[in-house]
Amino acid sequence: MDIYAKRLQAVHQSMINWGLDTLLLTPGAAMRYLTGFSEEGFERLLCLIVPDDRECVFICPALNAEQARKNPAGITDIRVWDDGMGWDKVLKDLSSQLDLDIGIIGVDPGMAARFLLRMQELLPTTLFKSADEVFTECRIQKDAGELASLQHAAEISDRAFETAITVCREGRTEMEVALAINNAIALEGVDTSFDTIVASGPNSALPHHTPSSRKLRTGDVVNLDFGARYDGYCGDITRVVTIGQPSDEAAQIYSIVYAAHQAARNTARPGVSAQAVDAAARLVIVEAGYGEFFIHRTGHGIGLDDHEQPNIVAGSYQKLLPGMCFSIEPGIYLPGKFGIRLENIYTITNEGCRSLNQEISPTLLSADWSNA
Ligand code: ZN
Ligand code: ZN
Repeated sequence: MDIYAKRLQAVHQSMINWGLDTLLLTPGAAMRYLTGFSEEGFERLLCLIVPDDRECVFICPALNAEQARKNPAGITDIRVWDDGMGWDKVLKDLSSQLDLDIGIIGVDPGMAARFLLRMQELLPTTLFKSADEVFTECRIQKDAGELASLQHAAEISDRAFETAITVCREGRTEMEVALAINNAIALEGVDTSFDTIVASGPNSALPHHTPSSRKLRTGDVVNLDFGARYDGYCGDITRVVTIGQPSDEAAQIYSIVYAAHQAARNTARPGVSAQAVDAAARLVIVEAGYGEFFIHRTGHGIGLDDHEQPNIVAGSYQKLLPGMCFSIEPGIYLPGKFGIRLENIYTITNEGCRSLNQEISPTLLSADWSNA
């Protein structure tokens, strides 16, 4: 059985578990998981209908029809609509054919409201629910092929960091460094998995800072958070360097975050809950007196989405199982001063966990040796 037939079978079972009659998926990780296809329709409706036991159907704008016909899963029923006719009638016709108006439809929670609101008008007797649980259940443990793709994504991300440290120099802007990272990834023939973060000096205290025209200065802490996407699967690493000699305070905070990271990875193994891994990292930071400055969860799952289950967070009883993949990324952010976050991707093995990325330096390094 081919990989897509196998996945469809698992999704069908999961639909029964969660009481969904049909799935309606717009482009994104779930559609890609089931079909290998995920071209963007943008403001035009492109969606995959997964009925309980009948053949899957694509509703597709004319602009994407050629691409949809080549979908790797080999789905042949493609209902094309064009701008003159719109997609209302296509959905209505399918509704009578597939009984969409009498059941519960699970939708991709990332579906744009403009599509869902119109569907609710066209199918007023249908109950729409999130299909999130179905895809979490099916995707949370990665198979060997998925692990290989995640490993590739991690290796390309690691190599991009080697490039990044050669451009972290006094006088360069955050945007220039981000561009160099993005270029290094593009030159390997792949895309980035999310918008690259380069945060220098006081900006590094903002976990999701957008690269700016700020120029790097001697003494800056620089946070670099980025990833390559290989065959749909995401990489995600965070590294921290300084321009010139690190301050004693920065070196000390770095070693605390490093110890928190190591405590979390040493806790992660089959059967342990996700929240225990979060607690292990948090305990190190709290005991060092910086608990209030660790302002986010310890990590997130990763796969076709850069953020998916399992979240490594307080309150999650999710048991970690072989094949699950997630980040460990504790951080300390001192407002107005600097922040430090250290992130690798791990996969749970039969005995413990394994890093897909190269090991993080145990000490804070200067990227700019000439200045150190
Ligand atoms: Zn990251
Ligand atoms: Zn991350």
